[in-house]
Amino acid sequence: MTAGSATTATTAHAVLLDAPAPIEEGPLRLGELGVPAPATGQIVIEVTACGVCRSNLHMIEGDWVEHGVPAKTPIVPGHEVVGRVAQVGAGVDWLQPGDRVGVQPLWSTCGHCDFCLAGREQLCPAKEITGETVDGGYATHMLATAAHAYRVPDPLDDAAAAPLFCPGITAYNAVSKAGLTPGSSVAVFGIGGVGHMALQFAALTGAEVIAVTRSQEHRDLALELGAHRAIDASGGDVAQQLQAAGGVNASIVFAPSSEAVRQAVAATKPAGTIVVGVHAEVGEVPFVEEKRVVGSVIGARWQMKQVLRMAAAGMVRSVYEPFPLDEAPEALRRLKQGELRARAVLVT
Ligand SMILES: [Zn+2]
Ligand SMILES: [Zn+2]
Repeated sequence: MTAGSATTATTAHAVLLDAPAPIEEGPLRLGELGVPAPATGQIVIEVTACGVCRSNLHMIEGDWVEHGVPAKTPIVPGHEVVGRVAQVGAGVDWLQPGDRVGVQPLWSTCGHCDFCLAGREQLCPAKEITGETVDGGYATHMLATAAHAYRVPDPLDDAAAAPLFCPGITAYNAVSKAGLTPGSSVAVFGIGGVGHMALQFAALTGAEVIAVTRSQEHRDLALELGAHRAIDASGGDVAQQLQAAGGVNASIVFAPSSEAVRQAVAATKPAGTIVVGVHAEVGEVPFVEEKRVVGSVIGARWQMKQVLRMAAAGMVRSVYEPFPLDEAPEALRRLKQGELRARAVLVT
C-alpha cells in the first residue's frame, strides 16, 4: 500500500482566473499555486496535457456567473487532463506514483444519490466539476479524486488522450442517446472539439453520418474522419436540404446556436430523436410527429472507460493542436475566433 508521504504543499505553475472578463481583456494570469498533499482517497497529478474547452471560455468570460461558475476565485480552468500520478493519499491502493491517468469534468460525485446509483452520476447534485468548482488542469500539478481518475491506455499519447476526457465522453454519451441502428441516418450539427468525435462514434453504429458545419476546413475534417456527407450550414436552409433527401432519423447538436437546434428539429423525421449538447432555445416541437428532444451532458465513469477502450483500439481518435501551457490565452482566443481545426491541447 502506497500512501502519500509528502506533508508539504507542491507548488504548481498555473494559469489562473481572478475575475471573469472577455478573453481579449486578459482575465488570465500566470502564477504559482500551492497544491495540498492528497487527503484520503485523493491523488496529485503532474499534468502533461490539458484540452481547451469552449466551456472554459464560457466560464472565463463570465457567461456562467449566474449559474455559480466559477464557484471560487482564483480558479485554475481546465477539465480534460492527462498526466502522471505524483502522490497518492491514504486508502488509494490501486494507483502508484508514475501511473499515467486522466481526469474528466466530473471531479467527484457523492456515490449514494439516485443518479449515482443509476449509472448517471453526471447528474449528481453534489458533484464537483474540474476547473469550475475546484482547480483544474491548466497547471503543472492538480489535485484529483482517485476514484475519478482513469488509467490512460498505452497506445494513446498524452496530448491525443486529453480530448477524450471531455469531447470524447460527451460525444459518446450523446451518440448513445440518439437511437442509431445500422442503416439509419444522423446529422451532426457543429464539427468542433465534440462534433469531430461524435461523428466517429455515430459512424461505428452503422448509421449514415451527415456533418453540418459552416467551415470548409471542418467539412474536410469530417469526411476524413468517416462522415458520409458534409453540408455547408452557411449555405441557406440546412433543414430543407436534409428534408429534400428524406430527412434524418436523428440529429445531434453541438453547434452553440438556437438556430441549429431549430434546424435539427425540422430536419429530423417523425419519431426521431434530437440530442442537444449546448445551451439553446429548442423552439416548437410538433407533438403529432412524436419527436423526442433530449439533453446530454458529459458522461459517467463506466462510459468514460468505454471511450478509452475504443480509442486504444483505434476505433476513434482525437484531432488536436498543441500549445504551450503559458499560451492558454492565445488558444482560447483562437477558439473564440473559430481559428482552430479541432481541439487545442495545452502541453507542459
Ligand atoms: Zn469540456
Ligand atoms: Zn450523487
